[in-house]
Amino acid sequence: MNGVPAGSGRAGDELTVRPREAIGDGSTFRTVVRYSGSPRSVTDPDGSEEGWLRTEDGAIALGEPQGSMAWFPGNHHPSDKAAYDITVTVPKGLTAVSNGELRSQRPAAGGSRTAFAWHSPEPMSSYLATVGIGEYDVRTSRPAGGIPEFTAVDRTVAARSEKVRARIPEVLEWAQKNFGPYPFSSTGAIVERADDVDYALETQTRPVYPAGAFNEEFLVHELAHQWYGNSVSPKEWKDVWLNEAFATYAEWLYDEDFRGVPAQERFEKEFEDDGNWAFPPSAPPKDDLLGAPVYGRGAMVLHKIRQTVGDDAFFGLLRSWAQKHRHGNASTEDFTAHVEERSGEDLTELWEVWLHGDGRPAKP
Ligand SMILES: [Zn+2]
Repeated sequence: MNGVPAGSGRAGDELTVRPREAIGDGSTFRTVVRYSGSPRSVTDPDGSEEGWLRTEDGAIALGEPQGSMAWFPGNHHPSDKAAYDITVTVPKGLTAVSNGELRSQRPAAGGSRTAFAWHSPEPMSSYLATVGIGEYDVRTSRPAGGIPEFTAVDRTVAARSEKVRARIPEVLEWAQKNFGPYPFSSTGAIVERADDVDYALETQTRPVYPAGAFNEEFLVHELAHQWYGNSVSPKEWKDVWLNEAFATYAEWLYDEDFRGVPAQERFEKEFEDDGNWAFPPSAPPKDDLLGAPVYGRGAMVLHKIRQTVGDDAFFGLLRSWAQKHRHGNASTEDFTAHVEERSGEDLTELWEVWLHGDGRPAKP
């Protein structure tokens, strides 16, 4: 710590570092943790697999909510954000892709390996860090005035992924019109074989998709998360509906703009879905943190706000919320206060019925 060896101990998931001298309250210090091991997967209380997942041709790291501890030590709380430098050395012929920008790609170990150095300049919560290792078809582009893209697609699914990959610039342009300036300095995707990964995740700048879910709907959802979830992150995990409500509502807005399906139709469909009424979005149980209400009923909350304040004020709220907490963290209370302050409306009843209340209300 600060260049001086420190004591350390580990109990289960907790690493304790004991400096030789006490650290002053509010002072800044630097800790270097040297560690080694064989990373493995973590099973969540809801049964999903995350952490370090082995794939047919390598591995993929997925961290929401607690998988990042499988491959690096840190304060794995969504409120602890940092810039990241991630360097990965892999056997020659394989590619290692991570968040942010590729700074260098160099031969290592006498040429038998390749070291990929990645840099994420903007603040990132640890659950959004990723590493993908495999045989990828890599596409990069640096459009004039656009956002640099680095997309790595498993070679066996490259051809079928091409059409959706080509949509990334246009979807980002559409998203910026609705949500405000893109909050990061690069974009892209990591696409894996369907039997290697069974869900998509909004890993920062470079979401991970199983080939079967690499479609426009998931593309819109994971790219919307770059604003809502990745730039504006939950203060605590119970606030995670703020991630999923916005990403789901982005799908509804996209359907409205590109397929002529009004958001009201999606609202009515979700309203009838019993799964959305299992718990209030503002109080997810630990064993169902990312259950249906966080998505469907969360999006219904946004739709009710839109109906109450009108389109102009609603789209203004989408942008001002992303701007106000850019690269930070925010809670459910921060959100309800922001909406009421900006709209000048008292929405107490809306919050009670749609956000906090138990069970399905009478059909509106
Ligand atoms: Zn999501």
